Amino acid sequence: MSEIKELKEKLFLNRKNGLSAASEETVNSAYQYAKGYKNFLDNAKTEREAAKTAISLAEQKGFVPFEIGKEYKAGDKVYFNNHGKTVAFAVIGKQTADNGINITAAHIDSPRLDLKPNPLYEDSELALFKTHYYGGLRKYQWTAVPLAIHGVFALKDGTVKEVSIGEKEDEPKFVINDLLPHLSAEQNKRTLSDGIKGEELNVLVGSRPFKADEGSELVKLNILNLLNQKYGISEDDFLSAELEMVPAHKACDIGFDGSLIGAYGQDDRVCAYPALTAILEVENPEKTALAILADKEEIGSTGNTGLESDFLRYVIGDIAKMQRVDATVALRNSKCLSADVNAGFDPTFPDVMDRRNASFLNYGVVVTKYTGARGKSGTSDASAEYVAYVRNMLDKAGIVWQTGELGKVDLGGGGTVAMFIANMGVDVIDLGVPVLSMHAPFETTSKFDVYMCYKAMYEFMK
Ligand code: MN
Ligand code: MN
Repeated sequence: MSEIKELKEKLFLNRKNGLSAASEETVNSAYQYAKGYKNFLDNAKTEREAAKTAISLAEQKGFVPFEIGKEYKAGDKVYFNNHGKTVAFAVIGKQTADNGINITAAHIDSPRLDLKPNPLYEDSELALFKTHYYGGLRKYQWTAVPLAIHGVFALKDGTVKEVSIGEKEDEPKFVINDLLPHLSAEQNKRTLSDGIKGEELNVLVGSRPFKADEGSELVKLNILNLLNQKYGISEDDFLSAELEMVPAHKACDIGFDGSLIGAYGQDDRVCAYPALTAILEVENPEKTALAILADKEEIGSTGNTGLESDFLRYVIGDIAKMQRVDATVALRNSKCLSADVNAGFDPTFPDVMDRRNASFLNYGVVVTKYTGARGKSGTSDASAEYVAYVRNMLDKAGIVWQTGELGKVDLGGGGTVAMFIANMGVDVIDLGVPVLSMHAPFETTSKFDVYMCYKAMYEFMK
C-alpha cells in the first residue's frame, strides 16, 4: 500500500491548496501585502489614476522619466509614460537588451461606465447622465449600487481639470436605478443579458431645481451651475472630457478569516500591483527588467495606449538604441509574463468549468497556456518549451502555482494582451490570479494568490 502511495506521489500531478500548506510566516506576509494592494485599489480606480499612482510610487524608489539621447547604465531605473494611461517601468540590466528583456505586462483599465460625449439631460425634473459601457460587463449588476465619478475635463485652453467625486465619506455618490419587484413583471421576462439594456444605464446626478420663478430644465441648469463653480466648465466641455462611473465602495477583506479581498477593478490591478511592486524591488538585474501597466485591454488593446499599438516596440527600441544594439534582436530574445486574471472555480457555478483544468482560489498564481475561444481562436498559445521554462522557474523559487483554462471548451472564452506581445516575436505566457465574479462591480480574490503572483513577477524580473 505504501508503495502505491509512493508511486502516486511520484507520478501523479499533485496540486494542493497552497494556503493550507503555507507557513504562518508566508500567510502573514500575504495578509500584509494585501494591505498595500487594497490601498492601491482605492487610489487607482481608473487607468489614469493607476498610472499616476504607479509613477509616484516608482519615483519614490528612484525611477526617472526615460530621456532619449541620455545614457543609462546597469541598475538605472527609468519609466516611459504613454499619455498618462500606459506606463512602462524598466531597470536596466547588466547585459545589453539584445540578450533579451524580461517583460511583465498587466492592464490597469477595468470595465466601467463611460459618460457619453453629450451626457447630461433632465427628465421629469431629475438630472441624469447617459453612459456607454466600457468592456464586457453584465449590465444588471451596475444598478442600485453607489457609484463615483472619476476622470478629466480637457478644456480648449489646454488645461485639464481632474474630477473625483464619490470616494470620500462626506461626498455625494451617484446611482443607476432599477425597477421595483412590484412592477418588474414585464422586465422579468427579458433574458438576463437584456435585464438592463445599454440605454437604460442612466445615472441619477441630481434633483434640485435652480431657484427661479419660471423656466424649463432647472435641475439640469443647477447641476451645470455647480459644475461651473467647481471646474469652470459649461455643457460643451463634456465633449472633450473622459469621465468614468465606477463603484464607490472601497476594497475590503472578505470572510470571517479575512483570507479574501473584495474590491472593484481587480481585473487587472490584481496583477498590475504585483508587477509594479516587483519591479520596484528589482536591483541590478542580469537582463533588463520591464513592467508594463497598460490601458485598453478590456476593449481589445486598441488605440495608442493599448498594447496592440507600437508602444512596447518603441520602448524596447529606445532602450536598444541607447545601448547601440538591434531592437529586433532584443524583441526576439525577450520573454514575457502576460499578467492577467483567470476565472476561479466557483462552487455555485461548477458547470462552466472543466474541474481538471480550472484554477482554484488559494492554489496559487495561475499559469494559463492559452485563452481564446472556439478552438483556441485568437490566442497566443505558449510553447511547451516556454511553459517548461516558467514552471521550472516557479518550482525552483518555491512559488505555489497552478494551471487554468478560461472555462469549458466552446462555452465562452476571452483574450489578454499576450497575443499582441507575442506578435513581436517575444515568448509569452499568461500568469495571474484567479478571480470570482470577474468584471462585476465587486470582484473576489485570495490574498495568498495575490502574494504568489507578486513573488512570481519578482522571480521573473530579478
Ligand atoms: Mn484582464
Ligand atoms: Mn477583463
